[in-house]
Amino acid sequence: MIVVMRNDASQEQLDVVIDRIEGLGYKADVERGEFTNVVAVIGDTTRGGKDVLEVMPAVERVIPIMRPYKQVSRESGQLRKRDTVIHLNDDVEVGGKRVVMMVGPCAVESREQLQESARAVSSAGFPVLRGGAFKPRTSPYAFQGLGLEGLRLLREAADELGLLVVTEVMSEMDVDMCAEYADILQIGARTMHAFRLLSAVGKTQKPVLLKRGFHASIREWLLSAEYIINEGNWNVMMCERGIRSFDDEFARNVLDLTAVQILKKETPLPVIVDPSHGTGQRDLVIPMAKAAIAAGADGLIIEVHPDPTKALSDGPQSLPLDWLPKMKDELSQIAEAVGRTL
Ligand code: PEP
Ligand code: MN
Repeated sequence: MIVVMRNDASQEQLDVVIDRIEGLGYKADVERGEFTNVVAVIGDTTRGGKDVLEVMPAVERVIPIMRPYKQVSRESGQLRKRDTVIHLNDDVEVGGKRVVMMVGPCAVESREQLQESARAVSSAGFPVLRGGAFKPRTSPYAFQGLGLEGLRLLREAADELGLLVVTEVMSEMDVDMCAEYADILQIGARTMHAFRLLSAVGKTQKPVLLKRGFHASIREWLLSAEYIINEGNWNVMMCERGIRSFDDEFARNVLDLTAVQILKKETPLPVIVDPSHGTGQRDLVIPMAKAAIAAGADGLIIEVHPDPTKALSDGPQSLPLDWLPKMKDELSQIAEAVGRTL
């Protein structure tokens, strides 16, 4: 980082700043200018110090240079040169040529509902079954999910059809239980900032689908990934699921597809897009799924339901199962056009 001194700073004040920088374990390199002096702070500045330096007398401002998310960054992270490929099993990898489809109901509601959905997912040739067993509902009176029973049903349906399972883990207390049944642990938008939960899923070493919080900046989202990676778990997928903006009249959220390419530049981690929560409306899901593939997404997570009018959560954005073959055809064409497969 660079410390810019005020133009009336004295030599004594500059010396105090240099001492402070060295006290923080960095090297200070002073550049003397015609009107003002600047001090380059040399070392791994992700260790901090900006807040301390910027409140010192005679400091005008402090400009960070390094990305604060040093592990996931292409600038300084270990894996920066190559895109991360996450091997879910011998056949399915995320971050390769294939756009990985994760499809299923918002919530697991019953064995019949889940099995019917899973059969449609499998017939379409999609590799991953999604489904919530622990549901983060805004109202405590809304359906909260089947919990452990939901996890068991997911595993059973997936194993019968050779599918993989992605499911949300809401609390640190449930991490081991969810890790026993799931192939991918989903961190939801509401818990993207639950840092102890992030560390706990990091410790499992299981692939993690990290959703973007609906008020989270890309920087904050990458810092959340950093918590998982700091536990030695590099199997993190970033999932854009829409952010809140001022206009929710026509769509539930604003699906930020720019984030896909921004992330591609910033980090080697794969990027998944959720056009279901991103739009909140069934008719918008397939068009935005196409746009996501065109924008470079490595996978999509999409909600379906055998009878969306009866869904216990997110019915308006859930696709009926008979939409899947057509969706597959349409998305395959876009994938092919951008050198990918489905
Ligand atoms: C979900 O996937 O059903 C879900 C609750 O997603 P989000 O955390 O993105 O709202
Ligand atoms: Mn949902």
